[in-house]
Parts: sequence; C-alpha cells; structure tokens
Amino acid sequence: MKQRQRPRPRLGQHFLVDATVVQDIIETAAPRAGEHFVEIGPGPGALTGPLLSAGAFVHAVEIDRNLARELRERFPHERLSVHRADALEFDYSALEAPGLRLIGNLPYYLSTPLLFRLFESAAAFLDMTVMLQREVAKRLCASPGSRRYGRLSVMAAARCRAEPCFSIAPDAFDPPPRVHSMVVRLTPDARYRTRRTEAFERVVRQAFSQRRKTIANALKGLADREQIEAAGIDPAMRAEQIAVEAYLRLAERLS
Ligand code: SAM
Repeated sequence: MKQRQRPRPRLGQHFLVDATVVQDIIETAAPRAGEHFVEIGPGPGALTGPLLSAGAFVHAVEIDRNLARELRERFPHERLSVHRADALEFDYSALEAPGLRLIGNLPYYLSTPLLFRLFESAAAFLDMTVMLQREVAKRLCASPGSRRYGRLSVMAAARCRAEPCFSIAPDAFDPPPRVHSMVVRLTPDARYRTRRTEAFERVVRQAFSQRRKTIANALKGLADREQIEAAGIDPAMRAEQIAVEAYLRLAERLS
C-alpha cells in the first residue's frame, strides 16, 4: 500500500481517528440516502466513507492535491465528486444540487474566515454540521451579555441558529491538536434577512473593534445618538450587550 503523506500542520491537517467520534458526528448530521452534502476538508475521508455508506451524494472540497487524489482512489464512487479547491473561494451555489447540506471538520487556521464565508452562502444550505476549535465554537454560539459574545456571534445570529453539540478531546485526532474541539450545528434562518448587509457589517465591525467603549462612542462617525436611540439601543450600552435585532434596526437607519 502506498505510504500516505505526513500531515501538513500549515493546512490544519489533524485527522479523526476515533471511530466513536466519527459516529457521533455522523449521527448529528443524520445523512439520508439521496441527500447532497458539501464536505469541507475531507482529508483521508473519515466522514466521507460513512456519508457514502448512508447513500448520500458527497461534493468534497479539499485543497491538498495529494489528499484529493487519494480520496478519489479510496472511494471510486459515482456519488462522490472531489473538487481540488480552496473552500474559501469555492462557489457553493454553482453546485446546483437539491437541498444541499454541509459537513466538515474545518481546518482550524481558517475556521473564522471560513465561517464568515459560509454565513454569506447560508441560503445555499439546509444546514451545516461543523467541527471547530472549542473556543471559536463557544464564541459562535454566545448570547448577548456573555464575555464571548462578539462579531462572530452577531454575524452568525443574523444568518443562522447555532447550536453547540459536543466537545472532542485532542486524542481523537492524529496528530492531536493543542486545543479541544466542538461540533456545532448551524441552521440557516431567514428571519433577519436585510437589504442593508453592508451597513450592518460595518456597524458590527466598528462596534466590536472598541468593545469597552459605550456604543455611542464606539460608533462615532458612523451613527449618532439619535439614530442609536431610534433603533431602541441605550447609547450607554456596550457592544457585547446588544442583540442582533438591534444592530439590524440601526443598520436600517443609516444612510
Ligand atoms: N475531514 C478529515 C477528518 O476529519 O479527519 C480532515 C479534517 S482536517 C482538520 C482539515 C482538512 O481541511 C484537511 O484535509 C486539509 O487539507 C483541508 N484544508 C485545509 N485548508 C483548506 C482549504 N482552504 N480549503 C479546503 N480544504 C482545506
């Protein structure tokens, strides 16, 4: 058998080797025959195999040329298409598959920008089951008032319901990462759809870039006191106390 290349830390290659954890992730996603999954970063295929066995179609997006080739060789399956591509650049809407779902043990070096990219594409997916470093997962799922509540939590809440599932210890991987991991389920939610996406992103970015200041001070030059109050926000509050609905109301009021 051909020797597999050594994992490349630069690409966040920590491969799942614990069969129980694989089963837990698959049970969380609960794939059914005929469903279409995008899998981000399939690596050697710990999740790809069970997805195919469940009868699902898998559109795997892997940046590593050798791993992409090995995956095709290991699973020569008509329901598997392997895209040798950067998940950050990939055009998910071009897949034109019905009822697309997403799964992935995300490469940690890229998880935050990748999540922002997935929020932008959220409408293309029915749901997303992702594994992240536990700290990022907790920030993703944080509520207003918590110290972890930040830009990631607000941008996630604007597009999805985020639900923490379970933690995974480093020894479930080869090589083990330095941190614990966590699986999160994201369900896109059109409730907060806005046409003021740019204004919303600008407000949230500026609010959290100075999170210790009052919101009135943090948003100087972008929103004045009257606009903040008209959005139902107390100008003395800090960014981390303000819910997504209020940021959206404020974005609607900005010219
Ligand atoms: N799914 C496998 C598993 O659970 O064992 C591998 C997960 S490993 C944490 C992350 C995978 O993402 C690696 O296979 C790595 O090569 C791939 N990867 C890293 N950067 C990527 C990118 N920009 N686009 C697509 N895949 C990427």
